[in-house]
This record gives sequence, C-alpha cells and structure tokens, in this order.
Amino acid sequence: MSIEPARTAGSTRLILLGTKGGLRVGGEGRANPSNLLLIDGVPYVVDCGYGVSRQLVRAGVALNTLRYVFLTHHHSDHNLEYGPLLYNGWATGLKQQVEVYGPPPLAHITDAFLQSMKFDIDIRMADEGRSDLRELICTHEIDHAGFVCRMGEVTVSCLRVRHPPIENTYAYRFDTKDRSIVFSGDTAYFPELATFAKGADVLVHEVMYRPGLDALVKRVPNASTLREHLLASHTLTEDVGRIAQASGVQTLVLSHLVPGDDPTITDAMWSEGVRKHFDGRIIVGSDLMEI
Ligand SMILES: [Zn+2]
Ligand SMILES: [Zn+2]
Repeated sequence: MSIEPARTAGSTRLILLGTKGGLRVGGEGRANPSNLLLIDGVPYVVDCGYGVSRQLVRAGVALNTLRYVFLTHHHSDHNLEYGPLLYNGWATGLKQQVEVYGPPPLAHITDAFLQSMKFDIDIRMADEGRSDLRELICTHEIDHAGFVCRMGEVTVSCLRVRHPPIENTYAYRFDTKDRSIVFSGDTAYFPELATFAKGADVLVHEVMYRPGLDALVKRVPNASTLREHLLASHTLTEDVGRIAQASGVQTLVLSHLVPGDDPTITDAMWSEGVRKHFDGRIIVGSDLMEI
C-alpha cells in the first residue's frame, strides 16, 4: 500500500514492516514490530520483531543486501528475529559487513545467537565454502543519547526515552539529504521526544488504545501484571497527539499499535484521541505501507 507517489531513486523511503506492538504472534493482519528505511536503495532496518525477514522479502528487499540494523531496546517484540535476520542474510549470500546499533547487552545477545548456530555455521563453511558469518557482524552498543553514526549523507541520532523497567530504550532520528524521520521506539508519554523530533518530516510513534486493554489482558492469561506494565510504559492516543503537536511534525504515523490484533478497533478509533491535540496529518500504520 502506498500513501504517496513513488519516490525517485536516490531518495529516502519509509516502509512499515510490522505494526503490531507486543510479543504475541497471531491474529490477522499485523506482524510484530519492525521498520525499514531505504536510503539511496540501502536498507536500514529499525527493530527486528518476529517476521522481519519475511516482511523484508515482501517489501522487495533481498536479504543479502542487509547493511545496517538498529534496535531500540531489547524487549523480544523488537529483537526476537534479530539473530535469525543476520543468519537469513548469510543464507542468502551476504558478503558485506553488517553494522548493528543498539543498547547493551547487544554484543552478548549477538554472540549468544551466533554461538547457538555454531554447529551449522561451521558445517556450512567446511561443506559449502561459505564465509564466516561471525566475521561479518559488527555491533555498536549505545548507552547515551546524542550522535549515533554517520553514513555519507545519513546522520543518525538517538534519545533515551521512558520505557520502564528497561532503562536503555531509545528513539532514533534519521536525517538524510531529503527527509528527517523519527522513530519513538517504545515509550511512555515523554515530552522530550517532541524536542528531539522538532523539524522532522515524519514521526513514527507507538500508540496504545485504552478502551482495548480489557480485552487484550484477557487474551494473555499468564501475565498477571500486564495491564500495569502497559499503562506505565506506553503512550495513549491523546498523549501521542500532544507529542506530535509539540514537535511540529507534518506527518504522524501511528505504529506499534497496542492492541494491534483487535479488528474491532478501526482506523477512525485510533485517530480520534490523537486528533484532539494534533492538527497535522495522521496515518494509521499498516504492514508494508510506504510513507
Ligand atoms: Zn514493543
Ligand atoms: Zn518494549
């Protein structure tokens, strides 16, 4: 689904890969969280929820072109398929280095995954003449806000947001030659995010619909304090509107929908609370939507 006319080559494309917040797999329509920027044709993957490899393929990205991965935090809905994505890239012919950015324990998580695949990697190196996947992965742990990295005309910066009980949780901002795009990551209402997103073209913000929580909590009987976690760690529709308005962004994209697998919640219902405070364009994200 395309919201805007196709952009010319050499520009920045934003594609939502998975728009359902949370770790539960199932339901129709939405995959677990991940996002894609294609900048001059180079993929930048932001978060690796379950299904990210398949969603990249569906978005037309060959997995052996993997180059940059950014993780906002280490809840499993954002990293469950991080290791397997690296592996799937290698299985598809990856030759170049992959740079991965994210909070600690990124290095440990990476090493532990690669260790779990040691038998297979060693066998395929010997038997199929493959390169060593372990030598292609370069991790960069982020433990403070500010500058993250620069690749040519792409500058990435981050802001530590509020997502208890995880302290190291980040929003990312990508400034390219033609667009500025901010991803909130997972966060409770966090006014500093508006400052971080000032002047951006697009803010992709997580969102939670309060009237949907009763049904959501009933669907997860083994998590007795889930409601308390959700209310302490995520942002309700009205507050997303406040952040977007204060930031001055023209376009707000709602993604990481909680609950993201309840078909009774319509796009109009997702937008209603946001609209009370934000007078710009609101897009209710869906998988493989390009903005
Ligand atoms: Zn999440
Ligand atoms: Zn989270």
